[in-house]
This record gives sequence, structure tokens and C-alpha cells, in this order.
Amino acid sequence: MAKEHTALTVALEQLDIAAQKLNLDRGIHAILKRPKRAIIVSVTIKMDDCSIGVFNGCRVQHWDVLGPFKGGIRYHPNVTLDDVTALAMWMTWKCAIIGLPYGGAKGGVNCDTKKMSRGELERLTRRYVSLIFDYLGPHRDVPAPDVYTNEQTMAWIMDTYSQLKGYSVPESVTGKPVEIGGSEGRVCATSLGVSFCIREAAKELNLKLKDAAVAVQGFGNVGYNAASILHSMGCKIVAVSDSTGGIYCKDGITPYNVRVHKNKTGSVKGFNDCTDITNAELLQTKCDILVPAAMENQINKQNAGKIKAKIVAEGANGPTTPDADKILHEKGVRLIPDILANSGGVTVSYFEWVQNLTREHWTLEEVNRKLEEKMIKAYVDVHKLAKKEQSDMRTAALMLGVGRVAHALKTLGLWP
Ligand code: NAD
Repeated sequence: MAKEHTALTVALEQLDIAAQKLNLDRGIHAILKRPKRAIIVSVTIKMDDCSIGVFNGCRVQHWDVLGPFKGGIRYHPNVTLDDVTALAMWMTWKCAIIGLPYGGAKGGVNCDTKKMSRGELERLTRRYVSLIFDYLGPHRDVPAPDVYTNEQTMAWIMDTYSQLKGYSVPESVTGKPVEIGGSEGRVCATSLGVSFCIREAAKELNLKLKDAAVAVQGFGNVGYNAASILHSMGCKIVAVSDSTGGIYCKDGITPYNVRVHKNKTGSVKGFNDCTDITNAELLQTKCDILVPAAMENQINKQNAGKIKAKIVAEGANGPTTPDADKILHEKGVRLIPDILANSGGVTVSYFEWVQNLTREHWTLEEVNRKLEEKMIKAYVDVHKLAKKEQSDMRTAALMLGVGRVAHALKTLGLWP
């Protein structure tokens, strides 16, 4: 029977691969397999109909040897403690690869945002923050957005944290609206980073971005903005999807128009003359570039062989399983792994934190220039190592991230 993958089995298998390649000390490997701390909370709120809502929540802090914990908060009906642990672990490697002074963390609350009112979401967010408050803070753990959380959620987090402290602490959270201390460029940062990586890979592969066919899975923050940026770079966006399904159009769509349609109808499906497709079909679309920007374990042993793209750039965290990695590598597909490709988000979150700590505000040009510099350096570092090791980009990225964290752990030693 085929092995069932979860985000955590994937993250642990990836860590094993890196540990073996790095000849990692067994004790250090054992430390890195588990998070330093996992906080489980019961988020109880008053619902609009006066009933009581009880939601499972958690915050997982993986390792902080390179700096304070940093990571998004996900609201999803099916997110598990194991998923959040995997996402926290990936954050640790990601920050190390891009060279940010942070450790990895992630938070999750089991809820269906589509079925909740704005008031319920606000009460849920504030209660959740109050429950993990002791473990948060600008020098402890700084949350950010993830699936089904956004700028507004971050504003409520900042306000709750500040109210409990008794003074305003904008540096307690990133991904806030610009008017209350957010950074220029944060909303598009993850997607811009993905696009920089695609541009570098395309150069190497001699693939012209002009009219290159792109398929994007997920039409939220990362997916929509990636589609828009790639469209502005001259690519042809031939397929996009969301949780309800997808659309295909050989001649390409304008992402903004699909967004207007989705805002009106709740789905990308049924847009103009496009053909409705399933998410499974989207992944197998004939295209040059595929950007998975939705959930984990989408590209697996069953469908990896059917992927036609030359470049797969992981906007999502954990969209590809290790067995699929192997298949894609053997097929010659250039896969740019999540811990490199989507690190633009946490990079501009770091810029936001620095701006908040210094009470400065940088221009969009400054933010994007610094982001581009960091992304290209990380891309080149990973690519060079992949060449040296004759490995795929994921193995090289893991070696770089895990290696840096392991080195810091060893240098700091254990206390007491
Ligand atoms: P989002 O909530 O803004 O959007 C999620 C999108 O995925 C929505 O369009 C939703 O309809 C779609 N979706 C949900 N389930 C799906 C499914 N089963 N099949 C297809 N589509 C589905 O979330 P986001 O912030 O864009 O995050 C997307 C991915 O990117 C996640 O893996 C997240 O961890 C990762 N990521 C996000 C950021 C960030 O800055 N927001 C940074 C790094 C990585």
C-alpha cells in the first residue's frame, strides 16, 4: 500500500535526508526532530447567536538558536498539531537559508473562516492571542499571516498584544496594514520572491518569460499575486484554481479580472470563455511554469510523473512529497523548493520588524530592492550547493538551512 504522507512525515523525511548528507551528529538530529515548545489552547468565544464556540488552537515553536521565533498563523478546519509542527520546522530552515535572525514557529486554529462573521473572527483572534500571550513578543515570537488570515487578523493581534502590555507594540506582529506600522510591499512579498526565483531559473534554463505558460494552484494572497506579477513580467497565465476548482484558457487570463469574478461569485470557476478544470487537472496542465500556492502534499507519487512544467516554484509550504521530488528530479524538472521560493514573505516581515524597532518607514522601492538582493543571494547559494552535491535544489536548500541551524546549536551548547 502506498505510504500516506502528512506534512510532518514529509518534514521529518526531509530532515533525515539533510542529516544524512551533512553527517549530522545524532544528538543534534534528535533535537531538531522535535519542537522546543508546543502550546495547545482551547479558544472559547461567544458566537453571534449567543452560543459558545470552542476551537482548538496551538502555537508551535521549533528552534530559536538564530533569533526569536517567527511564523504565520493558519485558520483552517483541518489543520492539525502535526501540520503546524511541520510548518514551524520549515520556517526554521527557511530563515536560516535566507539569512534572517529568526527561529521557526507556526500557529493554527481549527475554524472555518468562510462560515464565521467578522465579529466572531475578531473575538477568536483576540482570545487566541490572550492564551499564548506569555510566549509572544518582539524578542520572543512574532506572528504573521498564513492561510485564511490576513492584514486585518494581524491588526487585531497587534491591538490585543498592545492592550495587554499597556502600550503600543507594532513590532509584536508583521503583515499588518501599512497605516498601523506594516511594511510597504509585504502583501506581495512572498509572490515577488517566488517570481525572482522563477526568473533566475528561467535564465539558467534558457526559457523566455515572454509568453511562457504558467499554471497557479491557489488564488489567495500568494497565488493571486504570483499570477499578477508573472503576468506583468510577460508570462501567459493559462490556468488558476482555488479550493472550489480551477479554470484553463490556452490564450491566457488577466489575473485581476479573475479576481473581480471570484470576489463576485466566490470562485474562479465559470470565468468568461475558460474551461472549468479540477485541481488535479491544473497540476497536469501543459505549461512551462507551475506554481503550487495552496496546501501541502498536492504533488505526490501518483501525479508527479504527469507534471509537464519545466519549472515548479513552490509558493505553498510542503506541496511536494519526497517521492514526488525524486520523480521530478529524474524527469529534469527544475523544482524551486518552498524553503527558498516562498521566503520573500518572511524576509519582508523581517524588514517590517526592523522598521518597527527603529521607528522608520522604508519606501516600496527600498523594500523590493533589499528583497531582490536577499532572494538572489539565497537562490545562488542553494544552486551552487546543488551543483556541488549533484543534488536537487530541495536537498541543497535543506543542507544549507539545517546545516546553519545545527552549527548554531552546537556553538551555543546546551544549558544547564
Ligand atoms: P490564502 O488563504 O490567502 O489563500 C489560500 C488559497 O488556496 C485560496 O485561494 C484557497 O481557495 C486555496 N485553497 C485552499 N485549499 C485548496 C485546495 N485543497 N486546493 C486548491 N486550492 C486551495 O493563503 P496564502 O497566504 O496565499 O497561503 C498559500 C500557501 O502559501 C500556504 O501553503 C502558505 O503556508 C504559503 N505561504 C504563505 C505566505 C504568506 O505570506 N501569506 C508566505 C509563505 C508561504
